[in-house]
Amino acid sequence: MTGRPTYDAVVVGAGPNGLAAAVELARNGCSVAVVEAESTIGGGARSAELTLPGYVHDLGSAIHPFGYASPFFRSLPLEDHGLEWIHPPAPLAHPFDSGTAAMLERSTEDTGATLGPDAEAYRKMMDPLVEDARRIEDTLTGSLRAPRHPIALATAGLRSLLAARGRAERLFVGEKARGLFAGNAAHSFLPLEKPPSALFGFLLGTLGHAFGWPFPKGGSQKLADALASYLVSLGGEVYTGIRVDDVQQVPRSRAVLFDVTPRQLLSIAGEHFTERYRRALERYRYGPGAFKVDFALDGPVPWEAEECRRAGTVHLGGTLDEISAGEAAVARGEHPERPFILLAQQSLFDQTRAPEGKHTVWAYCHVPNGSTFDMTERIEAQIERFAPGFRDRILAKIVSGPADLERWNPNLVGGDINGGYMDLKQLFARPMLRINPYSTPAGGLYICSSSTPPGGGVHGMCGYLAARVALRYLQ
Ligand SMILES: Cc1cc2nc3c(=O)[nH]c(=O)nc-3n(C[C@H](O)[C@H](O)[C@H](O)COP(=O)(O)OP(=O)(O)OC[C@H]3O[C@@H](n4cnc5c(N)ncnc54)[C@H](O)[C@@H]3O)c2cc1C
Repeated sequence: MTGRPTYDAVVVGAGPNGLAAAVELARNGCSVAVVEAESTIGGGARSAELTLPGYVHDLGSAIHPFGYASPFFRSLPLEDHGLEWIHPPAPLAHPFDSGTAAMLERSTEDTGATLGPDAEAYRKMMDPLVEDARRIEDTLTGSLRAPRHPIALATAGLRSLLAARGRAERLFVGEKARGLFAGNAAHSFLPLEKPPSALFGFLLGTLGHAFGWPFPKGGSQKLADALASYLVSLGGEVYTGIRVDDVQQVPRSRAVLFDVTPRQLLSIAGEHFTERYRRALERYRYGPGAFKVDFALDGPVPWEAEECRRAGTVHLGGTLDEISAGEAAVARGEHPERPFILLAQQSLFDQTRAPEGKHTVWAYCHVPNGSTFDMTERIEAQIERFAPGFRDRILAKIVSGPADLERWNPNLVGGDINGGYMDLKQLFARPMLRINPYSTPAGGLYICSSSTPPGGGVHGMCGYLAARVALRYLQ
């Protein structure tokens, strides 16, 4: 990195955060190049015909409440670059052994109607949160208003930093509302007895009502492609097939932003950091891994609870007790007999995903970090439990354990899809406690991945915020 810089900034890694960082830099007048190790861009937002020709599967992320609500993505003309969001009629279904399901519908009232004795409690809890979330839209259009329910919001904010199990038991009496809340909270990859698992229960429910849980038509890849296309229209450049192992390999530039996790950052640029920062990166903790199966099906999933067909996402795990037992087992380093499954069935609402009459299913469960245990049988059994006859519809499947995930994306350390454990401490102090988490002690070197606030998910906010910091140095 000596001599005259070729670019103002180079971004290492073309995941959603790397691309977001590059876009923000380019739209502020910087010359910027993105270098990506793999032959295709998108990182955790990639799609491919994994199983059979004509069946498009999402390699990583599938459902995008964060992406759709992201203030940064909403400020970009991504629809002009090929992005089309599909909203399934209902964001989420959560079936039970009774053959019925709790539904996260777009309205809190309709959702409550599926929750038996907790209808009223659910609405009372969610309505102020939803109203406030919608304020994000107003903010973007320039009419920033104070929250209408500031006290309710502050109280819910504090409560959300608690553990999900206690919250669910306090808020609800019935198994449907408790199970629905537990399923959303389990996205935290935390035991439900650990804070701030409740945050995910509140947040995902709120986003479902305020924005929906949509997905890009044609696959998550379309979101990455739209970001790259917009970047190129701004004069940015994208190069694939270039793995950066040492910061010296990076084309000459004034700033380098790394869309990588602390372990990789340490090995790529560790010698430029202070001892204290190096130690913090070494101590950074990764969370449980994901074990994923992609299915090509002969027909739709034959759900016992018919209403599951209206939802893009289905959570399988039944009651609060069962889900929390499964997540606690993973935290102890065990593999639950009945794992909590996150399942997406995009092809029901997007004809581009599979040949006519055929379908795809994306499903994963949590496993201990780096696990080599094969969960395929348990995942299939769990789907079959709520959809008898499912197995008979399988035409092909591709199994990805933690090692497979890490092979196609080195950011998925031990199968951790969130760029690091998201407990109370590390959710905010990512990669370490620092006034500015995006800068490093080495001038001009930044980290912009989901290992920085606000953490995992396809929303681009880590990249955007890192770029804003880099711009202060570049401008
Ligand atoms: C199975 C799975 C399911 C998920 N489901 C969802 C979901 O439904 N919704 C959601 O919002 N999120 C989901 N996620 C999480 C989401 O994909 C990630 O949080 C998000 O992609 C993080 O973005 P990022 O840009 O920080 O990193 P990544 O998307 O991981 O991108 C990092 C990029 O950097 C590249 N790279 C790494 N090291 C180097 C190097 N040395 N040189 C060059 N390039 C390098 C990688 O190849 C990759 O392309 C899921 C992830 C997985 C794996």
